Amino acid sequence: MRVRVDEIPESGRFLHFHWDDTRFRQHLPAADPFEFKLIRPLNVDLEIQKRSDHIHIQGTLRGTLQVICHRCLKAFPWPLEETVDIFLVEGEEPQPSEEIELEASDLDYEFFDGVIIEIDQLVAEQIFLALPVKILCSENCLGICPRCGADLNEEPCRCEKSAAGSPFAALEAIKTRLTSAKDH
Ligand SMILES: [Zn+2]
Ligand SMILES: [Zn+2]
Repeated sequence: MRVRVDEIPESGRFLHFHWDDTRFRQHLPAADPFEFKLIRPLNVDLEIQKRSDHIHIQGTLRGTLQVICHRCLKAFPWPLEETVDIFLVEGEEPQPSEEIELEASDLDYEFFDGVIIEIDQLVAEQIFLALPVKILCSENCLGICPRCGADLNEEPCRCEKSAAGSPFAALEAIKTRLTSAKDH
């Protein structure tokens, strides 16, 4: 969806629309490592206001994504409820060096050509910004044992029994080696 700036009335423009999974998919990065899926349609409510030197977009995104836990690799529903508050300024995207300075401010500035607002692209960006860097099915997710591959949330680790697997056993082994080295 696109909105032309010259078609936004003085009173502002209000957008209400839904994204289903098919629509959502069109905006996913080609290599999506998280296997995102929209379980419940995304409800988009936006208010676009034209100001003298910028466009102000406010609203909410609501839906439920299916995501993959970084630790146990299981898919689980992730409720998305994101407040949108963006300032669109006419101009070029800043160079990476300048971007670092911009990060100091909390305001969400975006640049555009001043003519057309790419609403879909904006919505997609907001979804990805809303996702935490590390997605976990639960704070206490135990993850997968890197050695035997057991999902530690569901079953005990199969290599737990071999003492060599514990960090204390490893420490013990180092200590023994050090003492025996001293003895000789
Ligand atoms: Zn997990
Ligand atoms: Zn194991």
